[in-house]
Amino acid sequence: MTINLEDPKRLRPLRDQVHQVAMNMLRPISRKYDLAEHEYPKELDMLAAMADGLAESGAGEGAGATGVRRDGGGDDKTVKNGSNMASVMSVAEMCWGDVGLTLAMPRQGLGNSAIASVANDEQLERFKGTWASMAITEPSFGSDSAQVSTTATKDGDEYVLNGEKIFVTSGERSDSVVVWATLDKSLGRAAIKSFVVPKSTPGLKVERLEHKLGIRASDTAVITFTDCRVPAANLLGSPEINVSEGFAGAMATFDNTRPLVAAMAVGCARAALDLTRELLTKAGVTIDYDRPAVTQSAAAARFLQLEADWEGAYLLTLQAAWMADNRQPNSLQASMAKAKAGRVGSDVTLSCVELCASVGYEEGELLEKWARDSKILDIFEGTQQIQQLIVARRVLGLSSAELK
Ligand SMILES: Cc1cc2nc3c(=O)[nH]c(=O)nc-3n(C[C@H](O)[C@H](O)[C@H](O)COP(=O)(O)OP(=O)(O)OC[C@H]3O[C@@H](n4cnc5c(N)ncnc54)[C@H](O)[C@@H]3O)c2cc1C
Repeated sequence: MTINLEDPKRLRPLRDQVHQVAMNMLRPISRKYDLAEHEYPKELDMLAAMADGLAESGAGEGAGATGVRRDGGGDDKTVKNGSNMASVMSVAEMCWGDVGLTLAMPRQGLGNSAIASVANDEQLERFKGTWASMAITEPSFGSDSAQVSTTATKDGDEYVLNGEKIFVTSGERSDSVVVWATLDKSLGRAAIKSFVVPKSTPGLKVERLEHKLGIRASDTAVITFTDCRVPAANLLGSPEINVSEGFAGAMATFDNTRPLVAAMAVGCARAALDLTRELLTKAGVTIDYDRPAVTQSAAAARFLQLEADWEGAYLLTLQAAWMADNRQPNSLQASMAKAKAGRVGSDVTLSCVELCASVGYEEGELLEKWARDSKILDIFEGTQQIQQLIVARRVLGLSSAELK
């Protein structure tokens, strides 16, 4: 099989359309909502309605968080670029516009990706149109998600949830929360299940919002669950505790969401590179793609190095999405993409501030904002260090107990 390093032709019109949206609808309000933290970006309502319309008509295949569903099988072995590829390409373009606003898009939450990844057909229909945030992290842990201590106790046809979740992206604005809870802590990872909890459920309370370094257009909430009852049918995946399967069920979500977060970093870094090239050119620096970097000015050489690093992140992200579209196990590639793109996102955006110096640092341009916004992409959905740990375990064939 040959590898084609160009953007998939079929998806270029979608990418170009989303780029226009990012440029004309996100960029103009980017600084406004960076400064007005916790104010709802009402301009997104119209954009979200447009995205819904496209999805409904089938024209917007995969153009967002819900595009990560894997096909159910069948005999079709044709190599293809499907909804996962469309999702990463469109999310990257949206984040070229603004990461915080992209994260704040109604009905495009990480919880929506979780539902799209693991819900059965009945649940998919029932939760259609909901805006779902994702609640894993608790006060007692962040990286080690096997430590979930929020409990889900079966009571008749319902589960009763008790616990506290922190740092829930879109936790205040979403309509429902996908909550990770344990059916029985003594049974370890296998007992951790996820539940779709509508925000109107008695016992669910949004306690407060966090103030943050970046992505200020996106709300980040603390949510408590006190005897919060959800129908048993809201459990995503199998209710059985299969100890031999371990964490595989719950973790399946990450194989689809990590490439999306990698794509966010790719988009934000691309924005910084595009503006930096423009500013350097205006300042008289010539960047020549046909000459070796060592023969060019220090600024041009550094820029070319950053672009090469970006390209690596971009290709790894496409690879992880392509594997998902082609029903190939991609946990390793999803973590490689997230590790590389998370690091590149931070390195590139901060290096662009450095290259443009005072212009990069002040608020006249968005470079300083992108340097702040990109950092979270190297933290949530698994930090840089955790992705490296996962990659090392997979490459060396070691279990999580053998390599901590
Ligand atoms: C803005 C924002 C939005 C978020 N959104 C969500 C959300 O929507 N849903 C949600 O559930 N969570 C969310 N989170 C939480 C996020 O996923 C966690 O912050 C992240 O998993 C890291 O956990 P922690 O902050 O507790 O750091 P810790 O786990 O305490 O880690 C601290 C440092 O130690 C390193 N480290 C930890 N373990 C190891 C190890 N074994 N080996 C080497 N290094 C290690 C980490 O990489 C990190 O550098 C969000 C966080 C932020 C800041």
